[in-house]
Formats: sequence, structure tokens, C-alpha cells
Amino acid sequence: MAQILDGIRVRDEILSELKPRVAALAASGRPPGLAVVLAGHDPGSEIYVRNKVKACQDLGILSEKLTPPDSVSTAEVLAAVEQLNQRPDIDGILVQLPLPKQVDSKRILLAIDPEKDVDGFHPFNVGNLVANVPGPRACTPAGIIEILKRYGIPISGRRAVVVGRSDIVGKPIALLLLHENATVTICHSKTPDLAAVCREADILVAAIGRPAMITADYIKPGATVIDVGMNRIDSREDAARIFRNAPEKLASFDKKGNVLVGDADPFAMAEISGAYTPVPGGVGPLTIAMLMANTVASAERRARAC
Ligand code: NDP
Repeated sequence: MAQILDGIRVRDEILSELKPRVAALAASGRPPGLAVVLAGHDPGSEIYVRNKVKACQDLGILSEKLTPPDSVSTAEVLAAVEQLNQRPDIDGILVQLPLPKQVDSKRILLAIDPEKDVDGFHPFNVGNLVANVPGPRACTPAGIIEILKRYGIPISGRRAVVVGRSDIVGKPIALLLLHENATVTICHSKTPDLAAVCREADILVAAIGRPAMITADYIKPGATVIDVGMNRIDSREDAARIFRNAPEKLASFDKKGNVLVGDADPFAMAEISGAYTPVPGGVGPLTIAMLMANTVASAERRARAC
């Protein structure tokens, strides 16, 4: 029987460890501060930002939300970021992506002070990641390392296969696993015989964005499968096939008109792997916890530098 790696439990553990650190910062001057820039009205982004603001409130982190309109220009977002860079009470700046299409996202991300880049996306921090120098790490990949370590899954000396090479998940998790001494293979849409490569993995990370693509023939028996995918599917037929007509999933689909599916077939993971992260309740909850951790670490670094 595969072990379920419970992201909610690990998230709660991480958050409860952060609480005294936030309290200590508040007692010695001021609490950590996180600013979130949410431009436009992307419904997914609004939900993510609401959850981030709530996590800050629960921990006692000061949060500030800037909500420029859909029509905002690159210059206006740059000016807002510049102001936040200068603010002593703000330790972390997060620009929620996607930005409206007329805004040059690359220029905005480059403008964030690397010290306050709690997403770990600034090229300076990507360089630190490559060189294995301390600094903020991208939140989802950092969360994956946390869950593996907290469940005692060995990484050193193991074969890890990462499917996906995005800047926000695939590449950084591959580097973090490498720094933990795994032997890492990165796969993508041009990788031949992907299933055979995946079957070599002791740790298989799926960060693809394709519902239930990782089926039984991709998983080595006993492997650990980390399913990063968050795909909303709105076909009842697909939901019924993927969840093998599980009544609770179909009832949930009928209520909402869609259902969340990872990149791995949930039944294949449960039947073949040794341990796996479920969707929902696996990797997802860790991302916000690591954002909070990066914000607190940034506040501590900045307090020490004063
Ligand atoms: P991207 O679309 O940026 O990258 C997807 C990667 O998957 C690409 O490298 C692509 O290859 C590869 N890929 C696509 N199709 C195939 C295929 N058929 N075979 C092999 N490789 C393939 O996605 P993200 O990295 O941003 O996100 C991946 C998933 O993770 C999504 O479902 C997203 O919603 C989820 N996610 C979840 C988070 C969480 O907190 N749980 C946070 C961030 C993302 P190529 O480069 O060749 O095109």
C-alpha cells in the first residue's frame, strides 16, 4: 500500500514553526512584510492572492495588496515595484503572474530587489540556486524538497527523473534534487520513450500540465511520485475515466462543473508507487507555506543587516 505524502500536514508543520520566528521579529521591531501586486482580474490569480493574504494574516505577517487595473502599463508596474523596493517595512515582493498582456513581465521581475524576491524568480537568485549559494528558492520546488525530507524519503544517491523544464518548477526542482546528491534526468516534450526514462526513477516528479499523463507504465514499483500538476478538467467523461467512476469525485464534478486532476493517474500512483503526493492535498499546500518561509527568512536577513 503506497504511503500518501500529506502536503496539508507538512504545510501546517512549516507554518507552526514559522509562528515563533514571526513573533520574535515583531517583538524586536516589526513583523515581516509581504507585498503582493495583483494586476487585472484573472480569477485564478485572485484566488491564489486571497490565500496568500490569509496565510500572512494567520501568521502575523503584514500583507499589502496592490491592485492596479487591467489597463496598467509596464512603467506604472515598474514604479510600484520600485516604491516597494525602497520600503523598509516590506521584506518580500510578489508579482502575481500572469500580468496583463501589455505589461513586460520579464522587465518587472528583473526590477524586483533580489533581496525581496520571495518567489526566487530573479536571475540573481536563479544564479544562487545554480551555484548552491543560500537565498530564496522558488516556492513549489522548495516545498517538494521539504515534503521529501520530512517524510524521510532518501534523495542522496537515488535516480530522480523530472518531467517538465519550466523556470518555475522543472528546472529549479531538478537543481535542488541535484544539490541533494540525486542523479537527475530532466525530460520534456521532445524526450523519446519518456515512459522508459520515467521507469528508471526512484523519485519521479511530474510537472507537465497534462491531466493524468503519467500512467502505470511510467512508474517503477515502489518509486516516490511527486505530482505537481494542477489541471482543471471540465469533461465529465474524462473525469469518470480518470477517477474510474468514483462516486465522490463525480458528485464533486456535478456540483462544480469541473474537477482538479494532477499530471499522474491517481490510481496508478496509489497502486504502483511506494509513496506519492495526492492532488489536491499534496504539493499545492506547500507552495504558500514556502512563500511564507521565504518572507520570514528575508525579514530575518534584513533585520540582521540593520
Ligand atoms: P509549463 O507549461 O511551463 O511547462 C510544462 C513542461 O512540461 C514543459 O517543459 C513541457 O515540455 C513539458 N511537457 C508538456 N507536454 C509534455 C509531454 N507530452 N511529454 C513530456 N513533457 C511534456 O508548466 P509549469 O511547469 O508551470 O506547470 C506544470 C504543472 O504544474 C501545471 O499543471 C501547473 O498548474 C502545475 N503547477 C502547480 C503548482 C503548485 O503549487 N502545485 C505551482 C506551479 C505549477 P517543453 O518544454 O518541451 O514544452
